Amino acid sequence: MGEKKKKIVKTIKIDVDKCNGCRACELACSAFHAAPKYSSNNPARSRIRVIRDPLKDIYVPVYAGEHAKAECMGRDKYTIDGKEYEECAFCRASCPSRDLFKEPDSGLPLKCDMCESDPALSEPLCVQWCLADALIYEEREEEVEEEVKGEELETGLESLVNKYGLDKIMETVARMSISKKS
Ligand code: SF4
Ligand code: SF4
Repeated sequence: MGEKKKKIVKTIKIDVDKCNGCRACELACSAFHAAPKYSSNNPARSRIRVIRDPLKDIYVPVYAGEHAKAECMGRDKYTIDGKEYEECAFCRASCPSRDLFKEPDSGLPLKCDMCESDPALSEPLCVQWCLADALIYEEREEEVEEEVKGEELETGLESLVNKYGLDKIMETVARMSISKKS
């Protein structure tokens, strides 16, 4: 069994009932991630987007999550409190089926980083700018099993391949597995 190590789990709780659709979170996030920092604000560059339908009083903040290489085979439709939401409305992925969560100039996928690039931030910027308190930041500590990371193995193998060449490595592994079996 591996050793236990402590991990900080960061969460932003979203209270949809408190969101008034002001979009201050989008502006703050896009300004923070502009180059140079705070030089511009364009919600299309934000890692949080607010699904808005003012006539139906719908405001749902959605955070950019993992990048999906392919679009889903099916679609989901939600009806909440009698209001129908569009297909893909709550999906956090940057995927080929829509422009959401893509950097407008390069098309590269965007993902919320909890503003980790700036350790001076006491809380994520969108949380600080949400004056309606619809975004609530929480941290908790969890103990997890330390495991040999695939990443480390991959880095090690990569450096061996760079040094000796892939054919030589494959040949050696094959020879080793034969001698282990015999
Ligand atoms: S800043 Fe808060 S209230 Fe305004 S749109 Fe974002 S989540 Fe909603
Ligand atoms: S936590 Fe930071 S990176 Fe994530 S959406 Fe909010 S402002 Fe953007």
